[in-house]
Amino acid sequence: MQKMSVMLACALGLTVGACQTKQSAKAPVKPVFSAEDMDLSVNPGENFYLYANGGWMKQHPLPDDKSRFGSFDKLAEESKEKVRTIVEKAAAEEAENGSLAQKIGDFYNAGMDTIAINKAGYQPIKPLLDKIVAIDSKEALVDIISELQAQQISPLFYFYASADQKNSEMTIAGIYQGGMGMPDRDYYLEDDETSVKLREAYTIYLTKLFALTGQAEDEAAEQAETVLAFETALAEASNTRLQNRDPHATYNKVSVDGLQEMAPEFPWMAFLSGINMPEPGDINVNQPAFIKAIAKMYETEDLGTWKAFLSATVIRNAAAYLSDDFVKANFAFYGEALSGQKAMEPRWKKVLGSTSSALGEAVGQLFVAEYFPPAAKQRMDDLVENLRIAFGQRIDQLEWMSDETKQAAHEKLAAIRVKIGYPNKWRDYSALAIGGDSYLNNILASNRFDFDFEMSKIGQPVDKEEWHMFPQTVNAYYSPVGNEIVFPAAILQPPFFYLDGDDAVNYGAIGVVIGHEMTHGFDDKGRLYGKDGNLQTWWTEDDSERFNKRAQILVDQFNKIEVLPGTFANGELSLGENIADLGGLAIAYQAYQNASKDKGEVAKIDGFTDVQRFFLGYSRVWAQNIRDKEIARLTKVDVHSLGENRVNGPLPNIQEFYDAFNLDNTAALYIAPENRATIW
Ligand SMILES: [Zn+2]
Repeated sequence: MQKMSVMLACALGLTVGACQTKQSAKAPVKPVFSAEDMDLSVNPGENFYLYANGGWMKQHPLPDDKSRFGSFDKLAEESKEKVRTIVEKAAAEEAENGSLAQKIGDFYNAGMDTIAINKAGYQPIKPLLDKIVAIDSKEALVDIISELQAQQISPLFYFYASADQKNSEMTIAGIYQGGMGMPDRDYYLEDDETSVKLREAYTIYLTKLFALTGQAEDEAAEQAETVLAFETALAEASNTRLQNRDPHATYNKVSVDGLQEMAPEFPWMAFLSGINMPEPGDINVNQPAFIKAIAKMYETEDLGTWKAFLSATVIRNAAAYLSDDFVKANFAFYGEALSGQKAMEPRWKKVLGSTSSALGEAVGQLFVAEYFPPAAKQRMDDLVENLRIAFGQRIDQLEWMSDETKQAAHEKLAAIRVKIGYPNKWRDYSALAIGGDSYLNNILASNRFDFDFEMSKIGQPVDKEEWHMFPQTVNAYYSPVGNEIVFPAAILQPPFFYLDGDDAVNYGAIGVVIGHEMTHGFDDKGRLYGKDGNLQTWWTEDDSERFNKRAQILVDQFNKIEVLPGTFANGELSLGENIADLGGLAIAYQAYQNASKDKGEVAKIDGFTDVQRFFLGYSRVWAQNIRDKEIARLTKVDVHSLGENRVNGPLPNIQEFYDAFNLDNTAALYIAPENRATIW
C-alpha cells in the first residue's frame, strides 16, 4: 500500500560503500576490478560507464521479473536472502504468542498461505466495499474517507506527521496531495503515446478489479471510466514533482479554522474526528490549490462517482494481498505496462517485502544481531569524520562563496548528525496484533498501527533518535529538517563497502555516498535549511546567485542527455541528486588524498592505479541493466539520474578523472574546462 513516505528527505536511490581509513593499500582478497567485469574493448573516453561495467552487465542479464537490475539491486537481493533466513526461522518456530517471532512468523505464513487467500477471493475487503456502497449522504462519505485514511488506504491525500519545517524541534500535522492510481499526473494529462497507452491499460486494469469484485462487465467498464475522469481532475489540481521540490511553496501552516477557511466545502472537523485527531493544532498544507480543488469536488461530485472512486482505491490498494486474480491484474498494470517487467517476482519475495516493512524494526533487530559486525560501525564513523573534514576544506577553497556564507556552511556541516547501522532504541510492537489467518487483515492492522504511531507524535517534540529507514534496507538518506545523514546496516557491503578492500576503492564507493548525502544539506533544496533544520535564509543573495548559475550548468548538461529516442533526462528534477553525485565525488576524492598523502607511491591493484580505482569503484556502484519502459517511468518520477548518467554525467566535470585515464580533448566525453560544472 502507499504509505506516508512522502516526507522522507533525500534517499540515495540506489547505493553504498565502505572504508579503510588508516590502513595502507593492500591487495583485496579477490579482485574488485577484473577484465571480466569491465569491458576493456571500450575506450574509457568514449563511454566510461561501459568501460567500467560492460562485463558485469553481460554477466547479469535482466531477470524476467525485474524492470531494472544493477549492482545496487544485487546487494538488495542479498539482503533479502538474509532477511529470508531470519523470517523463515521465525515462521518455523512455535513462538510464544505476542512475541516478535510469533508476529514475524504469522505475518509471513499468512502471506504464503495461497490456498486460504485464493479461497477467500475478495472477501477480506468486502466489509469495506459494502460500507462504501451503503454511503447515502455526505456525512457518511466523510466518515469513510476518515476510516480509509486511518488504514493508510489514503484516498485523496495523505494526513501525516513531520517536523515543522520552520520549528524543527516540534512535530506537526501535514496534508499532502494524493489519490491517483498512476504514479504521476503526467500520465493523466499528457498526450504522448506512452501516456495514452497507459491510460488505456489503467482503464482495463480498473475494469478488471471491479469485475473481480462481482460487477457485470459493462458496469465495471463504466465505473472504470468514472474513476479515470475523477482521478484526472485530481491530476489537474496536483502540483508537478518539480513544484513539490520547493520547500517554501509547500510550507503553508494553518490552524484547523484556517484550513476550513482555505477549503470550505470539505467538513474538516468531521474528518479529523474520524481519524481520532479532533485537535491536531497547526497543519502544514503542502499543496493549497489541490486541497481547495478536492473540497470543491466534495461538493460538486455526486455520491455515485465518489463510491466508484473509493471502491477503486480500496481494491487497488488491497489487490497485491488478495487472491491470484487480483495479484495478476495488479502485475499486468504496475509490473508489465508501467515498468516492462516480464514475469512476477516469486511470491516469497513479495511477502518477505511486506513482512519486512510491516515489522521493519523487529526484523531489523534480528538482522543486525546476525549480520552487522561492530567493526563496520567504527570504520564508518572514522570515514564519515574524514569526509566531514574534506568537505570543510573544500568549502574553504571555494572561490564563489563569501566568507560570511562559508562561516554558516561550516556551522551547518559541523552540526550534521550521523546515524550508522541501526537505531539506538527499537520501536515497540507490543500493541500490534498479528494473526495467522488473514494476510490482508495483518496488512491493515499494521497500517493502522503505523498511522496511530504517526498521529501520536503530533504536537510532541521531534524524537531525534528515530530512523526513517530500516537496518535491512540497502539505501541511505539525508534529512534536511533533521540535518542528519543515515546509513542502514545493509548498505555497508560490497560494492559500497569492502571490508578487505583498499582505501581508493572504498573512498570511491561508500566515500562518495557519504559525501553525496552530506552535500544534500547544501544542494538546491537542502541549502534552504539552516543548521538546525529550519527553513531559513543563511546565504547572501550574491552567493545564492552564483550557486544557481553553477547549478544551471549541470541542469543544462543533463537536459541534453537523450535517455530514449526523443526522451531527454530532466535536469531540473534531478538537480539535487546530480549536485550530490558531483559534490560527493569531489569531497571523497579530497578525503582520499588526505588519507593517502603520506603514503608515497601507492601500488597498482588489479592493474589499476589508486586514482583509477577510486573512479572505477564509484562507477561499479551504478552498473545496471534496465528496460525501456522503466527508463521512461523513472525519467518522469525519479529524482535520481539513470545509472549510466550518474557515471558519465558527473565524471567529465572532474579534471582528475581525465588525468587518471590519460584522456584529452579528443575523448567523446570531454567537456572543456570553461563549460564544466564545479560546485563543491
Ligand atoms: Zn541523494
